[in-house]
Amino acid sequence: MTSILVVGGAGYIGSHMVKLLLGRHFDVTVLDNLSSGHRDAVVGGCFVQADLEDKIALDNLFAENQFAAVMHFASCIEVGESVERPGKYYQNNVANTLSLLNTMVVHKVKHFIFSSTAAIFGQPEYTPIDENHPKKPINPYGKSKLMVEQMLEDFDHAHGLKSVCLRYFNAAGADPEGQLGERHNPETHLIPLVLQAASRRRKQIYIYGSDYETEDGTCVRDYIHISDLCDAHLLALAYLRENQQSNQFNLGNGNGFSVREVIDKTSQVTQKNFEVVDSERRQGDPAVLVADAKKASEVLGWQAKFNQLEKIIEHAWQWELNHNWPN
Ligand code: UDP
Repeated sequence: MTSILVVGGAGYIGSHMVKLLLGRHFDVTVLDNLSSGHRDAVVGGCFVQADLEDKIALDNLFAENQFAAVMHFASCIEVGESVERPGKYYQNNVANTLSLLNTMVVHKVKHFIFSSTAAIFGQPEYTPIDENHPKKPINPYGKSKLMVEQMLEDFDHAHGLKSVCLRYFNAAGADPEGQLGERHNPETHLIPLVLQAASRRRKQIYIYGSDYETEDGTCVRDYIHISDLCDAHLLALAYLRENQQSNQFNLGNGNGFSVREVIDKTSQVTQKNFEVVDSERRQGDPAVLVADAKKASEVLGWQAKFNQLEKIIEHAWQWELNHNWPN
């Protein structure tokens, strides 16, 4: 059995990935410090609770296992917090990833799949955003992810460590079987927040800016279903093993939906009314962020199965209804 280390496997995307890998009969080990993940979200495999900062634990883990590849989901993801606490982001997202890469080199593990982000591009100069778009991140979060992409280039040259960087646009939705879903605390993402308003866990939903240069004045984003994201990781793994070559891909549906469209579609799917409040713009939000994922489709053979907003919301709603976790 091929053995995969999933770092951050107790988090939102990582836990869905673990489930998919187990379903495909991979031997899975999860490393997570549970700073934001949940132990009960890891549905199988071997679970190790340790911090990436703990070099001894990391070294022992690699000494005891023969990992064919590492998938790295563990990072801090809040843009606003990254502006206020850049040290936390550079420590966790950059320094700790560097430790992980150094350990991989020592133990001769050659394949790495990295959760990157659309935030590495900064303010879009054109849309949809392809892989050639200039990379000028405007906050420490985006910078920290770009720094890792740059480190990976150097680790490939120096050590033959081959990586695939997957730049997610807006990861959304939940396990279609209803077993897993999004559980951030605090929650900052639009779809779970709107669903919390629909389920009365939240009093209202705020629209951060309705004077953008878009059709209805609200920001447009490219929401990609979590299952489609996980599929892309499996394809990236196959790509690394077949081609022994590093690469980078933007991942989105190529379909943009405005904040207002998300809210309207949520009312429709849930059959609930809730209060919607027009509010100030949130700092650093580009008007439109849409991916050009042609390269992922041509090179990896990736196709989104759930590219309709309705399905994404339906699956996330199913999770919200069944798992009304206290905040
Ligand atoms: N947004 C909003 N109200 C909220 C949360 C988000 O209007 O309560 C907007 C946000 O300004 C952005 C879009 O929804 O335009 C998606 O935001 P999210 O935080 O989900 O993802 P991001 O695009 O920042 O990665």
